Amino acid sequence: MNEKLQGRTITSMAQLSEHLELSDEEKAFQEEKKYLPVAIPSYFFSLINPDDPLDPLRRQVVPTVHEQIEETLEDMDPLEEVEYSVNDRLIHRYTSRVAFLVTDICPMYCRHCFRRRFTGTFQGPATREQIESAASYIQQHPKITEILLTGGDMMTLSDTRIDEMISIFRSACPHLVIRLCTRTPASYPARITNNLISMLKKHTTAPFYVMTQFNHPRELTEQAKEAIAKFVNAGIPAMNQTVLLRGVNDDVDTLESLCNALVFARVKPYYLFQGDLVSGTAHFRVPLQKGMELEQELRKRLSGLAMPVYAIDLPQGGGKVPLSKKYVEETNGCGLWTFTTVEGDKRTYADPETTGQR
Ligand SMILES: *Cc1c(COP(=O)(O)O)cnc(C)c1O
Ligand code: SF4
Repeated sequence: MNEKLQGRTITSMAQLSEHLELSDEEKAFQEEKKYLPVAIPSYFFSLINPDDPLDPLRRQVVPTVHEQIEETLEDMDPLEEVEYSVNDRLIHRYTSRVAFLVTDICPMYCRHCFRRRFTGTFQGPATREQIESAASYIQQHPKITEILLTGGDMMTLSDTRIDEMISIFRSACPHLVIRLCTRTPASYPARITNNLISMLKKHTTAPFYVMTQFNHPRELTEQAKEAIAKFVNAGIPAMNQTVLLRGVNDDVDTLESLCNALVFARVKPYYLFQGDLVSGTAHFRVPLQKGMELEQELRKRLSGLAMPVYAIDLPQGGGKVPLSKKYVEETNGCGLWTFTTVEGDKRTYADPETTGQR
């Protein structure tokens, strides 16, 4: 890597072109018309193979002209998060959990980001008032058991600010499980410092979970694994959410090795997400039929521990539902069920009523 870049972040196409020979589709990207800023930390940039215009890591962070094509059914907010928002930072879509938008800033902007209505809009970190108002909302809704600290990437805040925010949530709701949603173990692992971990360890009334986003096995570098180990060694379990992305990870061998490498790094593959209908991301979306075939093949190859749930977050705020090829069908309506095994064979299973075991 170019020495000049060490420790810095590429934030413009002009800067990028000094370090990388841009392809025609990258050159055709019109920066002034962008939805999302450009940001590629030197660490992540160093993982890109500069000689391959279709490098799976490059595709995730270097914009192309395809990002500026809007398909008819696409929307800036297909999940209608705004509709489900309690205020401009708190989304209450599911009874038991809320998502808090800590900040819109990320160390690295992913070209597939589904929250681009908010991400990188330079609104900055939530204010103390916004945090306090979210905490009191949660206090008034005792069915809420979990909060997702998300964004943007919450790890762009200083340790002090994260500490203050967690203190507010934990003092209002001591038993709230906190999910730390962050891509920094993949995008900028040096951010995961011992200091950050010792600060988190002070907050002991309820567990933390760290929710990472690794999309390709090459992102699981030694540094990334060290960052994960810091959380896990501190008693913070790690779960990963992968976005299924065309040209990045839409083949079964890549997903298989990613999931196995995650388990080996003590990260549970949690979700594999179908791409949302977000403006300018059609080139990343994998057809559902292919996604379900990948899921079926993964289910044959992977252990239960390594197998993520393939899920879609439905448009118009429909929420997440699992996706898989149909394994079960009721045939005779009297409780006799027919199944298709993972290998494609047929099996039947009977409910108690039909076998007289009641
Ligand atoms: C995905 C999501 C959650 C968490 O859902 P889980 O299925 O529990 O992981 C919570 N709130 C919002 C708005 C979400 O999009
Ligand atoms: S880190 Fe997350 S919020 Fe930030 S750009 Fe990537 S996907 Fe979007």
